[in-house]
Amino acid sequence: MSERTGSAPGRVNLIGEHTDYNGGFALPLAIPARTTAHVRTREDGTVVAASTAPGTEPARFAVDSSPGDVTGWAAYVAGVFWALRDAGHDVPGADVRVDSTVPSGAGLSSSHALECAVAVTLNDLHGLGLDRTTLALLVQRAENHYVGAPTGAMDQMASLYGQDGHVILFDARAMTAEPVPCDLAAAGLSLVVVDTKVHHEHTDGGYGARRATCEAAAALLGVQTLREVQDEPVGDVVSKLDDDVMVRRVRHVLTENARVLDTVALLRAGRPGEIGPLLTASHASMRDDYEITVAEVDTAVEAALSAGALGARMTGGGFGGSVIALTAAADEARVSDAVRAAFDQHGYAPPSVFTVRPAAGAGIEESTQ
Ligand code: ADP
Ligand code: MG
Repeated sequence: MSERTGSAPGRVNLIGEHTDYNGGFALPLAIPARTTAHVRTREDGTVVAASTAPGTEPARFAVDSSPGDVTGWAAYVAGVFWALRDAGHDVPGADVRVDSTVPSGAGLSSSHALECAVAVTLNDLHGLGLDRTTLALLVQRAENHYVGAPTGAMDQMASLYGQDGHVILFDARAMTAEPVPCDLAAAGLSLVVVDTKVHHEHTDGGYGARRATCEAAAALLGVQTLREVQDEPVGDVVSKLDDDVMVRRVRHVLTENARVLDTVALLRAGRPGEIGPLLTASHASMRDDYEITVAEVDTAVEAALSAGALGARMTGGGFGGSVIALTAAADEARVSDAVRAAFDQHGYAPPSVFTVRPAAGAGIEESTQ
């Protein structure tokens, strides 16, 4: 059969923000919302891509397009074809139909859900035999070099390696993804997501600036990435840097890595109800040291905590997007209502509030295999 349907989930990062490009740790989970890609081979060297997402126009481009040729939403599709072909896989043209339940620009990584859905589908359709880590690296190349967003590999690893009932410990230096049990329902917990509707674009520069500062700090410290100084006391590391902004950026990265590992230890010990303070500390670090939160995000976190959430933090690259709040299942509605009320009081547009659980990663629909 010359057609396949594959899908890949969005992700929520439980903890570990802006650590991936520093060779560090993150703890994402694949969420139930997914993007589906239906791919049918064409013989004319052309890709015709269409999406059901509002505001997207169908796009038509050469299968051997280069970065810059295709812009807008279809660049995410063109980028995957480009990355596969650039790696030597002679992937032919195709009709690509995309459908998704992952909200776009909400910090749930709809862009990677789209890229991973296309990548796993092409991998299966053409029998390329690429493992998930290789696909994640190809998707990263597509996003970095074709789309032009300087993102790390965490989102793709979560989308590709996600497992029902597990969060994924991603080690960016080792490029490994290890499932860690996190059965929230069994522990009587809920993970509430608040999409603030304040949308960012990764290509805007705030993310790139943070990344550049970390790279400059690593260069000053004489290391490849900040991961290499992770085992030194944070105070010793930052005492070697003069610039106050750089000190705070580095302090965030190092303390955030430690919080990820502390969270993993609690989850492995079967104590998921105790990770709340780590989530809240992560938020304070993103707000004060990394300076990537915005008023709406801070309001959501404060309202959730005031209403009894066990912990809350922004998730995703920042400058808007989503907040997660860990609550006792019984407190879920109270926390959600408190966040909505706080947004109303501040005159913010209503947020979208929903719950997620750790769900399965990318895959091929069996009926099309
Ligand atoms: P995020 O990945 O956090 O949702 P990004 O700005 O990185 O935000 O990616 C969002 C962009 O990805 C959209 O503007 C659109 O170009 C593209 N995209 C994501 N999902 C889809 C989809 N289902 N159909 C078409 N384009 C999509
Ligand atoms: Mg994205």
